[in-house]
Amino acid sequence: MNNVIIIGSGCAGLTAAIYVGRANLKPLVIDGYEPGGQLSLTTMVENFPGFPDGILGPDLIDNMRKQAQKFGAEFKAGAITEVDLSKRPFKISVANDVYETRSLIIGSGATARMIGLESERKLIGHGVSTCATCDGYFFRGKEIAVVGGGDSAMEESNFLSKFASKVHLIHRRPEFRASKIMIDRARENEKIHFLTPYVVEEIADVAKGGVDHLKLRNTQTQEMMTLPVEGVFIAIGHEPNTKVFRGKLDMDENGYLITHHGSQTKVPGVFAAGDVQDHRYRQAVTAAGSGCMAALDAEKFLDAHKDA
Ligand code: NAP
Repeated sequence: MNNVIIIGSGCAGLTAAIYVGRANLKPLVIDGYEPGGQLSLTTMVENFPGFPDGILGPDLIDNMRKQAQKFGAEFKAGAITEVDLSKRPFKISVANDVYETRSLIIGSGATARMIGLESERKLIGHGVSTCATCDGYFFRGKEIAVVGGGDSAMEESNFLSKFASKVHLIHRRPEFRASKIMIDRARENEKIHFLTPYVVEEIADVAKGGVDHLKLRNTQTQEMMTLPVEGVFIAIGHEPNTKVFRGKLDMDENGYLITHHGSQTKVPGVFAAGDVQDHRYRQAVTAAGSGCMAALDAEKFLDAHKDA
């Protein structure tokens, strides 16, 4: 029997593990599909407080993991396949193993949708990014591209235009899903160049270890074109990792968990932290902050429910 199981080993889950561990509650952390979460897929992080020279995302995650282990957190590889939250103790299944726990912190995060190209996967963190706030600064004075046609693509293009010399906004249809006000704002921005209807067929150059051009295909004429850019931001949405909680916890229309009074879900003893319940801020530091909140909430809950 565990006091606290933490699902996910990104910034939210690991911060929760540090706090729960320091409260002497010996958390069990289930790593998830992507151990380390989104930070493990990035390179330099310059906006996490406390690191004036920046820190590599995987190093930051590694430090947090060691810090959690120092306070007694245990880690289990694998992803959750089933949860029973109908009564306490909750039952958490990882393949054939079933764990019981008095409380649960969900920090399973959200996964950025990707185009699905091999070159995209190979160049992530080397010119390919899914986070304008995190990486925009690295593209000062450079020509870059943003892929997507929703509010995120518009917002990120505007944000990136503060750094980049030019932003090519690439979308697969002539019409946009984004709201009119966001489209108008992007259209009024002289640095943003709309390129529709195009899809990215390849991000080059994997051999050089960085981005120097994109190969685009016009979805109406099938004509190919080459676009020289030094970076590309993929802004085609995120998927919260909440499939296993469907019908068991409240979610919004996009599948993000709904929390109230801090980190509480509708099931007493089940808390959520980080991107799995936040599609607005999505920052390492906000995920860490909410991981801390969930840990304090779980600790208080266990104090008040010593019976089970
Ligand atoms: P989204 O609304 O789901 O839009 C995703 C965009 O990416 C769509 O234009 C879609 O094209 C395109 N896309 C999806 N898969 C693709 C693929 N494989 N290849 C190329 N293009 C692809 O996602 P979002 O923009 O991240 O927004 C998510 C939610 O957050 C929305 O409700 C949005 O309003 C909200 N949001 C609000 C703000 C704000 O108000 N400040 C800012 C950001 C986000 P199609 O249109 O052709 O399907």
